[in-house]
Amino acid sequence: MIIVMKAGAAKKDRDEVLKRIRELGYKPHVIHGTTRDVIGAVGDERGKLVLQSLESMHGVESVVPILQPYKLASKEVKREQSVIRVTDDVSVGGSQIVVMAGPCSVESEEQIIETALAVRDAGAHMLRGGAYKPRTSPYSFQGLEEEGLRLLSKAREVSGLPFVTEVVNPETVELVAEYADMLQIGARNAQNFALLKKVGQLRKPVLLKRGMSMTIQEFLMSAEYVMSEGNQAVVLCERGIRTFETATRNTLDLSAIPVLKQKTHLPVIADPSHGTGNYHYVAAMAYAAVAAGADGLMIEVHSDPEHASSDGPQSLKPSKFALLMERLKLFAAASDRTL
Ligand code: PEP
Ligand code: MN
Repeated sequence: MIIVMKAGAAKKDRDEVLKRIRELGYKPHVIHGTTRDVIGAVGDERGKLVLQSLESMHGVESVVPILQPYKLASKEVKREQSVIRVTDDVSVGGSQIVVMAGPCSVESEEQIIETALAVRDAGAHMLRGGAYKPRTSPYSFQGLEEEGLRLLSKAREVSGLPFVTEVVNPETVELVAEYADMLQIGARNAQNFALLKKVGQLRKPVLLKRGMSMTIQEFLMSAEYVMSEGNQAVVLCERGIRTFETATRNTLDLSAIPVLKQKTHLPVIADPSHGTGNYHYVAAMAYAAVAAGADGLMIEVHSDPEHASSDGPQSLKPSKFALLMERLKLFAAASDRTL
């Protein structure tokens, strides 16, 4: 249920409502709007009628049901677009298209620092790089782990770019969160509910990738897992789904972007690197994603893709990435966005 507070309702009234929601066995989530606060009360669907009684409380304007199964992620509970702050300088969901770029995996100090400087100079806003890699094969490179996190931190220091990196299991969430500016949940873990709950307990922005066989509704339900634990700072990432097509690694579902924009207030970014699996197609799909309304992009960049430890075939060389960024300005401007 959504408890809509009156515009200008006193804090005391709001606190009373929060207390009452808890007494009834529901979890309240306050969403601050520009003119009024709304409170999402989530919990057992069966007893939701008892929440209707809150309508008679001081400061309450109305109590309305949330129809979608995803509650906190839904536009029903919050009509305004959410802007997720990563640092003082970088927020996702505002007028700026936020570009996160870097290698698939952190391989060495020299590699990550060189790449960080190159993507920064080309105009990227964040560095990406995997320290923990969830590989399909146990025989593939698994990442430098904590050493990778230290190298990413060094690259942040040198370049000034905040970084996003993947967390692959609940046990290492706290460790990764000590280093990272944003936690990535990868496609293979998008329905790892224990992991989603764990990142939901932190106050660190989360980049949630779509699982490769997830419907849009399931994707939003995964975001709901994070949000229902208290962490509202979720950015969604369309990274391609598995279809019958084999000419590309995945099929980047661009129509998911306007669909998500209609259903949720959370920002949506696109990853054309994993979405296509082939560097030839990355720029075209990056432009298309911005045209479709994406709030940002995640792009893999490697200075020596032929020798990359992972995902070389879809990685752009820094010079190609710089070219993409240059042309992207035109698409951003055409979409009334800045870069
Ligand atoms: C990645 O970002 O390197 C990655 C593993 O992505 P995904 O989870 O989308 O496959
Ligand atoms: Mn990758």
